[in-house]
Amino acid sequence: MPDAHVIADDARRSAAPHEPAGHSRPLQVAILGSTGSIGRSTLEVAAASAGRLRPWLLAACRSTETLVQQAKAVQPAWVVVTDEQAAADEVLHDLPADTRLAVGQEALCELVQAPEIDRVVSAIVGAAGLASTWAALEAAKTVALANKETLVMAGPLVMQLAARTGASILPVDSEHSAIMQALRAGGSHEVRRLLLTASGGPFRTLAAEQFASVTPEQALAHPTWSMGPKITIDSATMMNKALELIEARWLFDIPAEQIDVVVHPQSIVHSMVEFVDGSVMAQLSPPDMKLPIQLALDDPQRFDGPARRLDWTAAMQLSFEPPDLQRFPALALGREAAARGGTAGAVLNAANEVAVEHFLSGGIPFTAIPQLTRAMLDEHPYQADPSLDDILAVDAWARREAAAWIERQVSC
Ligand code: NAD
Ligand code: MG
Repeated sequence: MPDAHVIADDARRSAAPHEPAGHSRPLQVAILGSTGSIGRSTLEVAAASAGRLRPWLLAACRSTETLVQQAKAVQPAWVVVTDEQAAADEVLHDLPADTRLAVGQEALCELVQAPEIDRVVSAIVGAAGLASTWAALEAAKTVALANKETLVMAGPLVMQLAARTGASILPVDSEHSAIMQALRAGGSHEVRRLLLTASGGPFRTLAAEQFASVTPEQALAHPTWSMGPKITIDSATMMNKALELIEARWLFDIPAEQIDVVVHPQSIVHSMVEFVDGSVMAQLSPPDMKLPIQLALDDPQRFDGPARRLDWTAAMQLSFEPPDLQRFPALALGREAAARGGTAGAVLNAANEVAVEHFLSGGIPFTAIPQLTRAMLDEHPYQADPSLDDILAVDAWARREAAAWIERQVSC
């Protein structure tokens, strides 16, 4: 069951190809999406790594001012701006003398394959992260994967590509990082089920009739995690857990029926694995992405780092409850897409991205997010065994149809 490319065991630990400890040079890291929430945390991890990790490439869409500040701090070999208009920003003249500038998505896909790069942090948000992650895997890189959308859209193809080239995918998503760690406690045939924990988001206890009037400001106020806007809205609808269920299905090669979701409001237990004998292994730490990022970058080793720690001298309560599928219909959509496979994940992802964007700009109510996604899943021309081109075509189809669906709702 669990994939050899994901689960590091003792054999892999001793055979790890380029370990930072005692190695003559730092591991060189490409940070795709360096200006975002995960990107900034990655830079903090690198800064606290005592020279183990060197940011070699920084890439972002259009936040050029932040990119230049970051480049001044870490002196990367390359900075990539994917948005061509933003690449004309004056501020880019202030890049350090030894940092080169590249522009556009194609340049990013080419540079991410550079032999100088040891690890790639895939932290671009949404479907926009697929191409560069794919390029990194083609070049047999070790990818620290935050961009779950890559696996949601094209899980089987992505895992096959990694197996073919010998690339490794190490999860940054805290739940999948926890599961990767817990799986090391037993053999793959001994796993009964994965238990993905969910905070429940800001509307965990909100009455059903109030969901339609939720505002973007309310949905952006996550109780335990500080993240980019798209994933924060996904957490409020619990679509994030739907995406994570699909991510786990492909990453760990486990049927959707063996993955359950448990609501755990404190976000301390990051997920669990139940083994056949009833034993449950969990990973605990405060909600701080620096820990899973560091683990993915240093795997298979652990080091002291900047992530917050649990204080066991203070009283602490951990609680668990089942998710409410009535108020959070997105969960069933994720389960359905994980079970169906094929093009279902790509459609769910694209429809959700369009819906989130329109919800944030005030164009549709909160409750329309799962409704639109449901409609696109029902209407789409399903293919069971798509190629990457088929996936990209379905992504484009879903974006067009979702926009038309919104247009019809607004004009009603
Ligand atoms: P964010 O919105 O804070 O940052 C997104 C980054 O992607 C920015 O640097 C932006 O410039 C870049 N970007 C966007 N479109 C791009 C494009 N077309 N080309 C190049 N760069 C582009 O997002 P985030 O919260 O850091 O999330 C990033 C990814 O990590 C998402 O897939 C998310 O689901 C995943 N993730 C995030 C967290 C978290 O705590 N933030 C946790 C788990 C997983
Ligand atoms: Mg997560």
